[in-house]
Amino acid sequence: MNETKLTVQDDTVVTLDYTLTVEGEVIDHSGENGPIEFLQGSGQVIQGLENALYGMASGESKQIVVQPAEGYGDEDVEAYAEIPLSEFPPEIPLEIGVQLQLRDEDGDEFEAYVEEVQEKVVILNFNHPLAGKELSFSITVVDIRPATAEEIDHGHAHSHHHHHDDEE
Ligand code: ZN
Repeated sequence: MNETKLTVQDDTVVTLDYTLTVEGEVIDHSGENGPIEFLQGSGQVIQGLENALYGMASGESKQIVVQPAEGYGDEDVEAYAEIPLSEFPPEIPLEIGVQLQLRDEDGDEFEAYVEEVQEKVVILNFNHPLAGKELSFSITVVDIRPATAEEIDHGHAHSHHHHHDDEE
């Protein structure tokens, strides 16, 4: 084999093992579900991770620290709302940290997190839970392959983990 070793660049599909540590605590890692697979340059993963990956080869590892600007953004202190408890259907588990899928008047979906449950109101946080946080990643590139034309067209990687029935 004398072909040039493929490195991470736009329109490659990267298979990545990672551990995410925030404020000294491991909050996510690919160990349980196996490595993640994504289309580099498509925004499937945060900008800071993409930036660190450019030029890496298969088998290479790195420790990186991603600032909020290239992670989940700064926290917006205004992005909280008090919603009467009575407006929540009983099947919704109102516990701190629970993620809710909501729909606005235009039908657009957005996410919120339960920040606090009081006697009569629930305080929702519309920030991403990692907004404003410095993210420490330990990453290992497991595999790199060129993306297919279909993946580039869709803007995401297709793998056996990835199911979508709304586009094809
Ligand atoms: Zn697709």
